[in-house]
Amino acid sequence: MNDLSQKVINLPESATLAMANKAREIKSKGIDVINLSIGEPDFNTPDFIKRAAIQAIQQDYNGYTPVDGYLELRQAICHKLQRDNQLEYEPHQIVVSTGAKQCIANILMALLDPGDQVLLPCPYWVSYSAMTVLNQSNAILIPSRIDSGYKISAEQLKQSITPKTKAVIFNSPNNPSGTVYSKEDFLAIGQVLREHPQVYIISDEIYEHINYGVPHYSLANIPELYERTIVVNGLSKAFAMTGWRLGYMAGPDWIAAACKKIQGQFTSGTNCITQRAAITALMHPVAEIQYMVNAFKKRRDFALELLKAIPQINLIKPDGAFYLFPDISSFYGTKIKGVPINNSMDMALFFLEHAKVATVAGSAFGDKNALRLSYATSEQQIEKAIKAIAKLLSS
Ligand code: PMP
Ligand code: GLU
Repeated sequence: MNDLSQKVINLPESATLAMANKAREIKSKGIDVINLSIGEPDFNTPDFIKRAAIQAIQQDYNGYTPVDGYLELRQAICHKLQRDNQLEYEPHQIVVSTGAKQCIANILMALLDPGDQVLLPCPYWVSYSAMTVLNQSNAILIPSRIDSGYKISAEQLKQSITPKTKAVIFNSPNNPSGTVYSKEDFLAIGQVLREHPQVYIISDEIYEHINYGVPHYSLANIPELYERTIVVNGLSKAFAMTGWRLGYMAGPDWIAAACKKIQGQFTSGTNCITQRAAITALMHPVAEIQYMVNAFKKRRDFALELLKAIPQINLIKPDGAFYLFPDISSFYGTKIKGVPINNSMDMALFFLEHAKVATVAGSAFGDKNALRLSYATSEQQIEKAIKAIAKLLSS
C-alpha cells in the first residue's frame, strides 16, 4: 500500500546522496569503488575546532539551544561577514541551521506561495529545484553553456523574469561546475535585478573559501540589492565539517524572523556542541584553513591533466569548489563495450559498473550533457579513477 502525499511522490531523491549511497553499498560487498560522487572534503576537521568542541562538552553545553543559534555564534557570524565580505549585519538578521541545506529550505518556505517561480541559473545544485517544487512553486531553469564558462548572461536573466518570479538562486563558486562569477559578472546581473524589485536573491556562498583566484563577490555587496539578498553559507566545505551540520543565513530581519519561526516548528536550534565549535572556527583567521584549499587546487590541476588526455571530453578549468563538470555528450548515441550511452545517467551508471567509479549525472543539476566528478579525494584515488575511465572510453 502506498498512501503517500502527491508532493512526496513527486519529490526526487537527492541524486548526490543517492549515488554516494550506491557507492557505499557496493563497497560494503567488498568491491573497491572510487567515490567521486559526493561533494565532501576528505580532510579531518582541523584540531583547533575539535578542541573547542571537546571543551564545550566538558563545560556541559547540553541543553536546547536558542532556535536561531547562540547569540555569541550569531555575533561571530556578523564578524565573519564584516571581515571577509564587507557586509554589515546585526545578530537578529542571522539564523543558524542544521546545514546550509536547512537554511535554503527555510528561506524557500518563507518566501514561496503556490505558483511562484524560482529562477535557477544552470547548472544548479540538486536540492534547489526539489525544494522549490515541494513548495508547490515552479523551478525555471536558465541554461548555460560550457563555452560561456557555465555562466548565464545578464540578458538571459532579463528574459527569464516574469511577474511570477519570486526569487533567483545564485551559487558562486558553483556546485557542480566550479564556476566563479566575477564582480563584473555580478554587477551586470545586478543591473537587471535592480529593475525588478519583487525578485529576492538567494546567494549560496558555501564554497566561498574554496576559490583559486577569482576574488569572491556577493550580490549582497551591491547596495541597491542588499535589502533583498539572503546570503547562505556554512561550515561543511571550508572547515571539513559536513557531518557536524551547521549553516547560516544572513538577510532582511523579517526573513530571518520567518526562518526562525519555521525552524522552531521543525527542528529547533542546531546542535549545541557544533555551535560552540563554530564560534571558534569563524573567529579564527581564514589562513588556518588555506592548506586544504591549496590541496584542492593541486588536485584540480592533476585531475584536469588526466581528463584532457581523453579527446572526446570537453572541459573547462574551474576557479572554485571541488568539482569538474566535463561535457561527455559526444558519446551519446554510441555504444561502449556494447552498452548504449544516450544520456548522462547512462554514463554515470556505466562508469560505476565497468570502471567502479561513482560520479553524478549532469541531468541532476540541469545539464544533460555533463557529468560531475568530485576531486575532494586523494591524488592516488583521482589517478586510479580517471585512468580507469580513460581505459574504458578508449575501448
Ligand atoms: N549548497 C551547495 C551548493 C552545496 O553543494 C551543499 C552541499 N552540501 C549545500 C548547500 C548544503 O550544505 P550543508 O547542508 O552541508 O551545509
Ligand atoms: N553538497 C554535496 C554534493 O553536492 C553533498 C551532498 C548533498 O548534500 O546533496 O555532493
